[in-house]
Amino acid sequence: MAWQVVIAGGGFGGFYAARALERLLPAQSAHVTLVNDANFMLYTPLLPGAAGATLDPRHVVVPLRSQLRRTDLVIGRVTGAEPLARTLQVRRIDGQQLELGYDQLVIALGSVSRTLPVPGLAEHAIGLKSLSDATAVRNQLLGCLDVAESVEDPALRSEYLSFVFVGAGYAGVEGLAELQDFAAQVVELYPRCAAQGMRWVLAEARPRIMQEVPASLSEFAERELRRRGVEVRTDTTLHELSARTATLSDGETIPARTVVWTAGVKPSPVVARLGLPLNDEGRVLVERTMRVAGSPARVWAIGDCAAVPDAARPGHACPPTAQHAIRQGRLVARNVAAALSGGAARPFRYRTKGVVAELGRNQAVALTLGVRWRGLPAWLIARTYHLLLMPGIGRRLRLLADWNVALVFGRDASAPGQLGSPTPLEHD
Ligand SMILES: Cc1cc2nc3c(=O)[nH]c(=O)nc-3n(C[C@H](O)[C@H](O)[C@H](O)COP(=O)(O)OP(=O)(O)OC[C@H]3O[C@@H](n4cnc5c(N)ncnc54)[C@H](O)[C@@H]3O)c2cc1C
Repeated sequence: MAWQVVIAGGGFGGFYAARALERLLPAQSAHVTLVNDANFMLYTPLLPGAAGATLDPRHVVVPLRSQLRRTDLVIGRVTGAEPLARTLQVRRIDGQQLELGYDQLVIALGSVSRTLPVPGLAEHAIGLKSLSDATAVRNQLLGCLDVAESVEDPALRSEYLSFVFVGAGYAGVEGLAELQDFAAQVVELYPRCAAQGMRWVLAEARPRIMQEVPASLSEFAERELRRRGVEVRTDTTLHELSARTATLSDGETIPARTVVWTAGVKPSPVVARLGLPLNDEGRVLVERTMRVAGSPARVWAIGDCAAVPDAARPGHACPPTAQHAIRQGRLVARNVAAALSGGAARPFRYRTKGVVAELGRNQAVALTLGVRWRGLPAWLIARTYHLLLMPGIGRRLRLLADWNVALVFGRDASAPGQLGSPTPLEHD
């Protein structure tokens, strides 16, 4: 009988694990099943590009079926697990409840936005973590410009023309930079808004933005944002939000209708319902081989939801990045294959080789093998990197086409807010 290998989560970690398992395990001896809540893998580093309209939202995802030919896909939500019975509980998208039995289980359920108890945050802020977030942010920007253009009162108009980002990791910085760049282009279509001007604020709790890159690169990114008129507020947190205002810890209340929350991530909540040991942050405790601590060699956890010991920083878990999740996915596949054939598991030893962060306007910062890049060369490195990493030639060509069309013809200023919501058959 064939071994059953189940992977929970089809993001960076789960997708690369499935792809490697297809190569490592003979079809007749093992059966791989991947459970994900969407039939695509979201390429998150390109989300800011989708929000900023340089990329079509559909082009920042990878359809799982076209890339994983030997893996069974179950599209639905993991809802729980029974480690002793070796089953994973899944609610398929049609509502059907399934119990998937496994010999080997890989947990790769990623993360969600980390919120704090800030009054009004859950009601009034938007995240930038999913495809619908990116589309919503873009629609929100265009909606605000559309309203502001027809408002008579300049004070009310400025509420619609003020945009606050909270959290200046790469998601916040890239998101704000791309969106502001987009807004600067399309505002020409809105004469009143162009005459009044927009306000962009980036608040960060720590003393500098983009902790992921060396100080010299984060200073470059900050200078670049300030040059464009962005107010960068370090050592500043969000105190309170309402539908029309954002109050910061420095005491200023900014009249603003748009607040984007990009202040970190926490493990997907379902991870706490799987009967596995967790650390203080709610990440699954694993050994260096990514085997779940204290479990027999059959349950593994990787990516943002797992606290994989970081070889580069003893005593710490790996940071929640795609580059770690990809490598963990590939290695966990080898370890699963080894476990099935009686071989030994290898420890995860990866050290970050570089980071790239696009800032819009053909600007970026990058660190590659210790070499620091900024400006246009960094931007070319960033785009080449994503082009090479995007799985499938068809997906790469779509990216190239989108980028070049946007460079030559500018970005698309339509707000497709109705996408995915059918018009009721009977309505007024
Ligand atoms: C805007 C943004 C920009 C980023 N830029 C970079 C970057 O430039 N470089 C970098 O290295 N990292 C970047 N990251 C971080 C990177 O996206 C994550 O570290 C990476 O995606 C982690 O991979 P993962 O497999 O652990 O999780 P994910 O890729 O999030 O995959 C988890 C999968 O599990 C699915 N899932 C969750 N819950 C369930 C459930 N209950 N049932 C079924 N499926 C479920 C999710 O939908 C998802 O498909 C960025 C993140 C964001 C949000």
